[in-house]
Amino acid sequence: MCNAKAYSAASERSPMAPATIPRRDPTEHDVQIEILFCGICHSDLHSVRNEWSEFMPTVYPIVPGHEIVGRVTKVGAAVTKYKPGDQAAVGCMVDSDRTCAQCRAGFEQFCANMTLTFNSADKHLGGVTYGGYSESIVVDERFVLRVPSNLDLAGAAPLLCAGITTYSPLRHWGVTEGKKVGVVGLGGLGHMGVKFAHAFGAHVVVFTTSPEKKEDALRLGADEVVVSRNANEMEKHAGSFDFILDTASAVHDINAYLNLLARDGNITLVGAPPKPLAVLAFALIGGRRSLSGSNIGGIAETQEMLDFCGEHNITADVEVIPIQMVNEAYERLLKSDVKYRFCIDMASLKSE
Ligand code: NAP
Ligand code: ZN
Repeated sequence: MCNAKAYSAASERSPMAPATIPRRDPTEHDVQIEILFCGICHSDLHSVRNEWSEFMPTVYPIVPGHEIVGRVTKVGAAVTKYKPGDQAAVGCMVDSDRTCAQCRAGFEQFCANMTLTFNSADKHLGGVTYGGYSESIVVDERFVLRVPSNLDLAGAAPLLCAGITTYSPLRHWGVTEGKKVGVVGLGGLGHMGVKFAHAFGAHVVVFTTSPEKKEDALRLGADEVVVSRNANEMEKHAGSFDFILDTASAVHDINAYLNLLARDGNITLVGAPPKPLAVLAFALIGGRRSLSGSNIGGIAETQEMLDFCGEHNITADVEVIPIQMVNEAYERLLKSDVKYRFCIDMASLKSE
């Protein structure tokens, strides 16, 4: 075991602050990674503040972070895919039971015994797992991903959560050329959703509560932008969408979007507001519309997404910050003031 520098929160009301955490020595199948960049996901904030207490209560201290890229420093004797010096990445999961029907089908994210990168029971050291706001991490090679060498590393980090979480449902629901696709919320997930839907050839409409993001939405690949608080603008799109990806992090009126779906259209929620959304039966019944959800993506699909990004040169638009600015970044996330993902330069942790 060794100690690693990290940032953690001691309670739901505490700010993130410097801490020291244990990391295991690599076992046979483990890869030890020096973390170079870690994206800041809104899920980090929900977890640090225990906003999901009813579904997945936070154990303190918490070290969040699941958009991890770095360099391999050491590997276990049985590791075949990575060697010291390689670039490597870790997303939202670090293990699963690998034997259940979900795992065998490549859906580790739905395995009942899946281990999240942070705030899950740690099979090796006891306590809970600690995430990427840290100088290093040790992960079984089966849960380590390869980053295409042409991608900027800071921009690639958010692909490990924001990327796969948007790529997976867009693929699942058959978003291709000729489809009209909406993306609700232009934050970390939303801006990746726009990039992927555009790359898949769809006609992309962004729904935003922030009129000042209009120009950026078009630059990122949107064909149209709707300010969702403007009922007239919304009405123009009634009954016209094949698919809408909803990334909003707070409670909002889902019926306003259901009404925009065409016959058999679907809205998939990836945003995870802590409180329920009220669904009007009539908004679903008329037009045989459906509402569903999606959770990140499996390991094989995450690698497929990274390779797709390598081929199409897709990365997140990041604002790189030192770790000392993480509390400020959280406050800005709450104001929807992120363009479009904060990414921590982990070199800044060396001075702590
Ligand atoms: P983010 O960067 O903070 O972006 C969220 C965006 O939602 C904001 O920028 C804003 O966009 C919009 N928004 C915020 N408050 C709103 C409100 N009251 N009404 C309507 N829109 C609102 O967050 P993120 O990292 O993209 O994460 C988004 C959500 O997805 C979070 O709840 C997160 O926990 C969840 N998540 C889920 C998964 C999964 O696997 N399902 C994975 C990762 C994250 P505009 O300014 O454009 O309105
Ligand atoms: Zn995330």
